[in-house]
Amino acid sequence: MSVSVGKNIMVYVETVSKSPVSGALEALSKAHKLAADRGEKVIAVLIGLDLEEAARTSILAGADQAIMVNREAYNMEVYGEVLTKLAEKYRPSLILSAGTLAGKDIMPMVACRLHTGCAVDVMDITETDGQLVFTCPVYGGTVLNQLIIKGTPAIAVVRSGAFAKELTSERTGEIFKEKVETEETSRLKIVDVVKEMAEAVNLEEAEVIVSGGRGMGSLENFKLVEQLAEACHGVVGATRPAIEAEWVPRSHQVGQSGKIVAPKLYIACGISGATQHVSGMIGSGYIVAINKDEDAPVFDIADVGIVGDAVKIIPLLIEEIKRI
Ligand code: FAD
Repeated sequence: MSVSVGKNIMVYVETVSKSPVSGALEALSKAHKLAADRGEKVIAVLIGLDLEEAARTSILAGADQAIMVNREAYNMEVYGEVLTKLAEKYRPSLILSAGTLAGKDIMPMVACRLHTGCAVDVMDITETDGQLVFTCPVYGGTVLNQLIIKGTPAIAVVRSGAFAKELTSERTGEIFKEKVETEETSRLKIVDVVKEMAEAVNLEEAEVIVSGGRGMGSLENFKLVEQLAEACHGVVGATRPAIEAEWVPRSHQVGQSGKIVAPKLYIACGISGATQHVSGMIGSGYIVAINKDEDAPVFDIADVGIVGDAVKIIPLLIEEIKRI
């Protein structure tokens, strides 16, 4: 069933260990700005158990209302149905979610059920002549597409780091529970959740990432990247060649076919700056690149470039950081 008239912005607030993921708070803060311009409200939707604290955080990040829906365990089909039913009831003009795996799973399904469109990997949302325009990268970030969604509500999965999260302590809002009936006959049954050790490292939420590329040369040299990350209290990222060389597990890959990250500081070691890598880290606040080739494309996007052998430079950096 499609939702005909739309008003207000709904944000699906995904939680991990009962806290909202960063991307959801970023989406809420963007929604707050868009809603203020349009004279609308922001409605946060949280699905799970014991989410009062997460609901309060959602209010601080920009929601006017936070709706909590009880569900025991994650199931994309059930969560999608919950969001669909809430969209039918509250009739938002726009639904946003974080660009996590769950967001990318659920939102296209909700769009399909509501017979509307879904923009994924959204880097910006603007308004022209009363219409929302979604900016999304294509061809590995070399081209930016601007999309208008004809259906209502428009649905967008936003790229992590695309919008700033702004938590304001004096913001108040309404928090309440809703009962949403869903089909008991979900075709999807999650029998077990297996957490890969490397997944404990959450690249999308990291404030500092130190990444290594093919230029590190060997598994032994790549350990320097890990040591620098440890010295900076950061996490390790990598390019695809470093993953393929098995210097680090695949879950650390940054880029078009890896993770989209936006830390405050990104240190690229022995990385050329290919578009497929850069498209995953261009949203970083401050980029430092170490490369022995002064013409490497990575220097075009770096705030600070160090020309030299990363194997020699990284130990010096670690020494200096430890001195601070
Ligand atoms: P290279 O391009 O080989 O660069 C190595 C760099 O190290 C060079 O600039 C060199 O000057 C420098 N160097 C060498 N030795 C040293 C030294 N001792 N000290 C300092 N610098 C040194 N790649 C990703 O990273 N992520 C992705 O998600 C991704 N997805 C892709 C998807 C598709 C469809 C395709 C086709 C490709 C994808 N790639 C991805 C691969 C991408 O195109 C590049 O090949 C890759 O990013 C290059 O990795 P690199 O910078 O480590 O290696």
